[in-house]
Amino acid sequence: MPAYEVYAVRYATREARSGEHFHGGDPHNVPMPMDYFVWVAVSSEHTVVIDVGFSAEVARRRGREHLRCPTEGLREIGVDPDNVSNVVLTHLHYDHIGNLEKFPAATFVVQDIEMAFWTGRHAGREYFRHLIEVGDVVHLVRKNFEGRLRFVDGSRKILPGIEVHRAGGHSAGLQAVRVQTARGPVVLASDVAHFYANIEEDRPFSIVSDLPGMYDAFDLVRSLVGSPDRVVPGHDPLVMERYPAARKDLDGVVARIA
Ligand SMILES: [Zn+2]
Repeated sequence: MPAYEVYAVRYATREARSGEHFHGGDPHNVPMPMDYFVWVAVSSEHTVVIDVGFSAEVARRRGREHLRCPTEGLREIGVDPDNVSNVVLTHLHYDHIGNLEKFPAATFVVQDIEMAFWTGRHAGREYFRHLIEVGDVVHLVRKNFEGRLRFVDGSRKILPGIEVHRAGGHSAGLQAVRVQTARGPVVLASDVAHFYANIEEDRPFSIVSDLPGMYDAFDLVRSLVGSPDRVVPGHDPLVMERYPAARKDLDGVVARIA
């Protein structure tokens, strides 16, 4: 089994309070900032990017602090986005798929029902429509007609040592990624768990597509790894504290997960 190195690239952040991050709020409502990441798994043979983040323009419009283009962070560790052929999109929310055109050689791995949802009857309803950028979804529709989408329905090994697993809950076809590393399997949970607290305290995040499905997604991710310290949440600033910098000069920019 090939072993991958796994990195988290932090590209944006925002101030927030804990009440925003839990379904039903949080009685303490303390400051709880949110970071934004993309991830990459690298072996001697393959490079797989997981999500592509949002652009500086979208950050300005949505009031997020854009720290760097995610592709700049990837270049810091030797990943050239022009040559990346495999990109997993965990789901289609704006903060995960905003730089698709910066990966011109990529095939994008998506779950059937995630594409179906965002091209279907509920996508334009008030609750959902602000979660995506219409141009991103249109871009993916075009990519599909170019044969550049790889559809998955559920769980699938996409390369030796890399599997995707449909988890749902937060979005219709949200998927987590399990990667084999030298220290065992790591699950890039993406927004199955925005924060460690969501999954460790069994407290769903506030943005919900299917609430029972979100609890099921917690169970799924737990079942995919033997140990909670192998789960990497999608938006938790603690990721940059719990894992070392990929290089001394990349502290706060790129963490090495495994
Ligand atoms: Zn997200």
